Amino acid sequence: MRIIRACREMGITSASVFSEADREALYVSLADESYCIGGPRPISSYLNAKAVVSAALACKAEAIHPGYGFLSENAEFAALCASYDIAFIGPDAETIKKMGDKEEARRTMREAGVPVIPGSDIAVDYYQAKRSAGEIGFPILIKARSGGGGRGIRLVKNEAELEEAFRGASSEAQAVFGDGAVYLEKYLHPVKHVEAQILADNYGNIVFLGERDCSVQRKNQKLIEESPCSTLPKETRRRMAEVSIMAARAVGYKNAGTIEYLLDNDGRFFFMEMNTRLQVEHPVTEMVTGIDMVKWQIRIAAGSPLEFAQGDIMPAGCAIECRINAEDPYNNFRPASGRIERLHIPGGPWVRFDTGIYQGYAIPAFYDSMIGKLIVYARTRDEAIRKIRSALSELTINGIDTNADFQMEILSEDAFVNGAYTTDFIENLRQNREA
Ligand code: ADP
Ligand code: ADP
Ligand code: MG
Repeated sequence: MRIIRACREMGITSASVFSEADREALYVSLADESYCIGGPRPISSYLNAKAVVSAALACKAEAIHPGYGFLSENAEFAALCASYDIAFIGPDAETIKKMGDKEEARRTMREAGVPVIPGSDIAVDYYQAKRSAGEIGFPILIKARSGGGGRGIRLVKNEAELEEAFRGASSEAQAVFGDGAVYLEKYLHPVKHVEAQILADNYGNIVFLGERDCSVQRKNQKLIEESPCSTLPKETRRRMAEVSIMAARAVGYKNAGTIEYLLDNDGRFFFMEMNTRLQVEHPVTEMVTGIDMVKWQIRIAAGSPLEFAQGDIMPAGCAIECRINAEDPYNNFRPASGRIERLHIPGGPWVRFDTGIYQGYAIPAFYDSMIGKLIVYARTRDEAIRKIRSALSELTINGIDTNADFQMEILSEDAFVNGAYTTDFIENLRQNREA
């Protein structure tokens, strides 16, 4: 929906692809043309690179925007597009490959002079993991080299837990990502997840579009994001901008990209990973900078140079986003599916709801649980919090379980309101409730 709208405003004809489970999806009717590319399971449609490219060839597409999820960070897909002379809207295949392998990304960033979370190389067996853990010091995280979406991450508090966790993590990584390789990272605690948004054209111009605080997470997945990070000192922001641009330059980065860091209480930040695509939470950056990121992604892929320099970017105010998921937050966030019987979307100035749902729509059970993003903008953070609470109270989605009430609870917590929350915020909330 987001991409089709950008195309339409730019006078570009759009075509979408869909699976048999998504025939009734809103974007399928919004696009100028739509092509069914296979069955409901992602492997037979949205992850089938050849099917996507065939549809692109059938409609003579000049470019493909990969969105997020699925093939958006898949180097072979980007290379396949290039081989058919279709512009992949994102960085080059080599860059995606380098940054998609978390271990190689860590190495590349270390060599570029970026501070990286202390950790190990790939642990080939338990004994090597044990040696590395001894050097790093518990607690540690075991992470999948090819991991993503908050999955394939395990916390290990002491050596007694290591063997089982190591074997479990490797086999899970093999099953979920088709790659069993894992490595170890020092578990940093308490920290904020703060990420830098950059935009780079094909001519070496790179700008920093501010940062986002994505520390409100459940199971290592983001729930609320805001820009700017309200507790980030000016000087740290300046350094983060410098380091992020340097990192992007080191890998010849093109298009939109996000560098994720963990920020500790002493104002030190450490590279965690780079996401080589548009991010779910890009709207908060758009709201504070006034820059339409999807349009710039398209222009960059078409060979246009950036029309602004770092000095032209003056983020102002505060934007907050709540992810609305079809899930039951009081039952271990179990995904929900079903039909939307009644829908009311909040409105008013600086209230945005990015979604693909409509009244009467049945949510398919095959995909991610996110069904919408509520985004607000205001001049101050206090006003933004009041605005998003008001908008949330107006949002009505009947017929399926959503996390909207849970989001409201979070927005009323002191730790959220004062901005000092860290990535363990929701887990603490849960434990306090149980106590
Ligand atoms: P981000 O860092 O942009 O917030 P995440 O790491 O949360 O992204 O995950 C990447 C994106 O891919 C998310 O938007 C997630 O909803 C989406 N995603 C992951 N798996 C699927 C899936 N099976 N179907 C649809 N979307 C998916
Ligand atoms: P993914 O590719 O799944 O997004 P990330 O490496 O970005 O994986 O980690 C997801 C989340 O897990 C982070 O946002 C953070 O909350 C947590 N996390 C990851 N690495 C560490 C670490 N070394 N110490 C503490 N928390 C971490
Ligand atoms: Mg991440």
